[in-house]
Amino acid sequence: MRIPFEKIEEISAANDIIEVISSYIPVKKRGKSFLALCPFHADKNPSLTISQEKQVYHCFACGAGGNVFTFVQEYEKITFIEAAQSLALRAGIDLKFRDISPDLSNEISRLYEINKTAAKYFNENLVNNISGSEREYVFNYLKQRNLTEGVIKRFGIGYASNTWDNLRKFFEEEKIFKIEDLEKAGLLVTGENKSCYDRFRGRVMFPVFSENGKVVAFGGRKIFEDDPLGKYINSPETKIYNKSRILYGLNFSKEFIRSSDYVILVEGYMDLITLFEAGIKNVVASSGTSLTEEQVILISRYTNNIAILYDADLAGIKAAKRGIEIILSQNMDLTVITLPENEDPDSMIKKFGIKEFNKYFEKRKSIISFISSLYEKENKISSVTDKTNFIKEIINYISFIPDKIKRAFVIKELSDIYKLYESDLRTELDAALKRNFKEARIASSVQLPKKPVIKKRDNDKYISKPELDLIEIFLKGGSDVLLYLEHELNTNMIENRKVEIIVLKFLDELHFEGKIELSTFLNKIEDDELKSILTGINNEKDEINMGMKLTPDSIISRNYKKKTDYMRYAKDVIDKLKIRRIENEIEELKSDTANFDEIIRLKKESNSLRTGKKNNH
Ligand SMILES: [Zn+2]
Repeated sequence: MRIPFEKIEEISAANDIIEVISSYIPVKKRGKSFLALCPFHADKNPSLTISQEKQVYHCFACGAGGNVFTFVQEYEKITFIEAAQSLALRAGIDLKFRDISPDLSNEISRLYEINKTAAKYFNENLVNNISGSEREYVFNYLKQRNLTEGVIKRFGIGYASNTWDNLRKFFEEEKIFKIEDLEKAGLLVTGENKSCYDRFRGRVMFPVFSENGKVVAFGGRKIFEDDPLGKYINSPETKIYNKSRILYGLNFSKEFIRSSDYVILVEGYMDLITLFEAGIKNVVASSGTSLTEEQVILISRYTNNIAILYDADLAGIKAAKRGIEIILSQNMDLTVITLPENEDPDSMIKKFGIKEFNKYFEKRKSIISFISSLYEKENKISSVTDKTNFIKEIINYISFIPDKIKRAFVIKELSDIYKLYESDLRTELDAALKRNFKEARIASSVQLPKKPVIKKRDNDKYISKPELDLIEIFLKGGSDVLLYLEHELNTNMIENRKVEIIVLKFLDELHFEGKIELSTFLNKIEDDELKSILTGINNEKDEINMGMKLTPDSIISRNYKKKTDYMRYAKDVIDKLKIRRIENEIEELKSDTANFDEIIRLKKESNSLRTGKKNNH
């Protein structure tokens, strides 16, 4: 199967690379070239340069590069043909294809096939296979939630039986995919004793689709009272599932969003399905994650008008506030729909019907009135101090709007409503701009996306054991080990800033020199503290004098793996870093009980990393 060369030329001519890449990630113009944070490695400074003249991109840090087809292919993890199809569609070029059988020699296409097969299995299981009291129980639940036959069909809903190995047995009988591929797809989990079992058990299954309608993951809704796990279990991230880049329901709703030039953003699968079935079809859900910048960019391909709808409880308001910053910083027009307390779209439409929901939609609020209503609700708008706090909070949000003129309009609106001098508000806005964008300005002239990051440890003097080990592996590991690190390491796993700087420099060195040699490398380091960390690790006897506080077990650990296999060591350290990152994330989430499910999920992830590690040794 191939596409005629002229057709490829036509597609390429109709898709400007700057426009296409901008539809996935933020791109900034600098001089003649365009820059972006590279989506193919953990990029801190924009390393991806895009040339409009040559219509190519290149990353100076990880070496990723290519043309408009390559970018779409790599970013969306799809084949060349699919990338061409998607770009043709984008440019309104007619391209007809026969169905082709998937290429199973490629891991990515295998993962897609596995998910597709599993989705069919779950659906078939629900509709035709389960029987007796189980069937009665499950259908009773579906009926309560208004999940009718039509909805089940439309959204591909299924059921994972309440056993440990139903799905595994099904795939074993099919004999097409290997167990390890099913694990990579997140459908099977290996526990202790290397026993392998189904991740989803006794749950109603919602397939999660990519923008172009392929199953990339699942969300499993708890239905049994005695199920000890969270309300939802979601697939882990896989090579085809990056949850921050997926919006649930977009494949169903994208044409409705485009034609209405409006989108309603909800939280969960059920909110989306209920609205969709009630006839409001321009809707997406950010389920499984709090709203991300990538998701907002995804939306902006279809519309610039977004109404967010979150639960009126504290967790919902917190989520909404986080969302506001991200949406405003993408220059989108934003309103907030607030429902009465204790109601979500699902419960509300069921109780009062779509008309009642529409009333609230019509009464949706601008950011100014949304924030003011929160203050009013808490009775915190009467004293001068209260008012000042309120105005400051609003101005803080306004500072996230990148467009200066747009900012000016909102400031004007604020001054009109509250009878304040515009000049005073502008002074406050300048302060907010400085506060919120100081770091990005120092780092480069390019505006960095504000991603929610785990707080780095305040005490930079403390370097953890796995972090020290990591540096050692970089210095002593062979090329296969370095390749592994380049691939697996994400800088958000590292807490200590100094170590982070060293690792980033290592990665640069690998890219430009192909190897890391301490002596030449040290010439490029100016900071004495960094030098001492490096030389300290290389020369074990000196580690006490590094000027850094080392924990006793870091010194002991240095000895146990001296001559051992560095690849195994590297894997071990990466797992440890991942576990620590997850634990930090749990700590952050603990402040809010609404995060309970997510905490449980993370704990499980961390446990499976731990047990996985045990099995390897
Ligand atoms: Zn890169």
